[in-house]
Amino acid sequence: MALAVSVSAGGQEQMTMKHAQELIPRPLLRPVPSLDPSEKAVAVDTIETSDPRVVLVLRGDGTWEYVKDSNVVLSEDVFASDWNTRVVNPYNVKYEDLPMRITLWLADSASHFACPYQAKVFSGFGFRHGRQHQGVDLPYPTGTPVRAAFDGKVRYAARSGGYGNLIVLRHENGLETYYGHLSKIQVQAGDWVNAGDVIGLGGSTGRSTGPHLHFETRYKGFAFDPRWLIDFENGVLRQSAYVLRRKLLNPSSTYVPKSEDDEEEIYLTEEQERAEEERLARERAAMKYHKIKSGDTLSGLAVKYHTTVSAICKLNGISAKSTLRIGQNIRVQ
Ligand SMILES: [Zn+2]
Repeated sequence: MALAVSVSAGGQEQMTMKHAQELIPRPLLRPVPSLDPSEKAVAVDTIETSDPRVVLVLRGDGTWEYVKDSNVVLSEDVFASDWNTRVVNPYNVKYEDLPMRITLWLADSASHFACPYQAKVFSGFGFRHGRQHQGVDLPYPTGTPVRAAFDGKVRYAARSGGYGNLIVLRHENGLETYYGHLSKIQVQAGDWVNAGDVIGLGGSTGRSTGPHLHFETRYKGFAFDPRWLIDFENGVLRQSAYVLRRKLLNPSSTYVPKSEDDEEEIYLTEEQERAEEERLARERAAMKYHKIKSGDTLSGLAVKYHTTVSAICKLNGISAKSTLRIGQNIRVQ
């Protein structure tokens, strides 16, 4: 099916709703609220369904819901191929070998979503000082619970260079979510987790200038902007299914920081930025101007302000032969 697209002002390509509906049923295009597992009543009975992966659970408050049987789900191939609990990004998939469109089914009656941490993104995905920032940063106090965004299997749960304490979850649709800089990891590689389960506590481990969650979404190792899926500020999944288009993925986004120093360049940029601002402020404060009066010459100004003609020319982008106008402001320092 030919799928037309429109380009939003931000340059981020999005399907029009009309075309999305041709591909994805309408109910799946509604935002999905974040789940709070603590609000669930205790399960009182379980009924099998025609789908071996799903059982019907009746709860004490009279509600019922479909629940996945993780043992059945875990036997699926997605949890076997390219499975490595020691390497952050174990995939070696070429960009050209990715499908043009990858439909990610994110939530349905048996698959829920939980916002890992609801907050305003303070540092987004994309190039930052010439380096790719592979996720989003969400500030929070150390010790804040971090929740699994979707059901999945813990693929990596260990310290890793600039990520600090890192958890990587793999989900049934092939998506992987990364949770970095944690103060505490509360799961182990191989564990099954449900959406909304607390997997760790927030912190500032690794190369980080303050407590924040570094959250990534990757497909076969290729990172993309998690905000395409999640509205972090409102804590909702934008829609139940998402069509990830290959051309929106950056072939260089498979990179993972190897060492703490490696990541440092990403996180020090905030400091470098501040240092740069301070340097510019000092420079502005030190600037001195002279208003040209009749009889002023460049060599006369150089003597008066203890500088040289060439230095004044450089500061003002003029040549030594330039004519000075009366009333003109010339920078001398
Ligand atoms: Zn980050």
